[in-house]
Amino acid sequence: MSKLKIAELFYSIQGEGRYMGVPSVFLRTFGCNFTCSGFGMPRGEMSAERDAIAERMVEFRDYNELPLVSTGCDSYASWDPRFKDLSPMLETDAIVDRIMQILPHRRWEDEHLVITGGEPLLGWQRAYPNLLDHPSMHRLKEITFETNGTQPLSPEFKEYLLKWRAQREITFSVSAKLPGSGEQWSEAILPEVVCEYEQVGYTYLKLVVATEQDLADAEQAVLEYRTAGFTGPVYVMPVGGVERVYTLNNRAVAEMAMRKGWRYSDRLQVPLFKNEWGT
Ligand code: SF4
Repeated sequence: MSKLKIAELFYSIQGEGRYMGVPSVFLRTFGCNFTCSGFGMPRGEMSAERDAIAERMVEFRDYNELPLVSTGCDSYASWDPRFKDLSPMLETDAIVDRIMQILPHRRWEDEHLVITGGEPLLGWQRAYPNLLDHPSMHRLKEITFETNGTQPLSPEFKEYLLKWRAQREITFSVSAKLPGSGEQWSEAILPEVVCEYEQVGYTYLKLVVATEQDLADAEQAVLEYRTAGFTGPVYVMPVGGVERVYTLNNRAVAEMAMRKGWRYSDRLQVPLFKNEWGT
């Protein structure tokens, strides 16, 4: 039996990308290869909000008690080692049991599974076949991996997914990290990795933008992905894990999308649920 370290497992409405509005189970794995401390900060500066929260760690007994942040990665507790004790290591059977408990009909109907993070395509790839092959998961028809697009698929997992998709739908929602995230271009924009996802499932780019500089970076990134052979759609999405930041730039980002002929992705979880944990 395989195990996964789970930061969050919850049922909500998918707020972003291709499946916006679809009832979905979110399985948030622990661990990421980035920190994305630049989100919401002036270019070149890094958020210290996470550090301030970590200093108050004794106050928090549960993941859902952690404060939301307006700068940096809004799912910081799903990868920062200082918060790791809030994410239990669970066997896949136990995860499936929890999924069945939170589905409204106690079985898969029209819901969709989102495997997110952190970065869900780190070492956990080896555990997913065990999870997806569980008898209670056989009715599941649609799955999305929300990834930063930097992790190649292992040959074994790629082969598994190619078989899994024979009668089902696999999506890779690739939120590639532009320089506004604080990450290095050479480590974040890896077109060959994303082109490989396209061989396995429906794949799109979902780029977080706030400023004209972000938009210029997005154009350059899209050019590099296209040059490498990527054919999927491009979404732009407003920055903003909290409502006051999101509402500052959602319309401007929608207008950027129209100018470029790209798709606009909302963050429905922000206006609907204030982006609280578990939404
Ligand atoms: S890649 Fe995603 S989960 Fe990882 S630090 Fe960046 S925003 Fe957070």
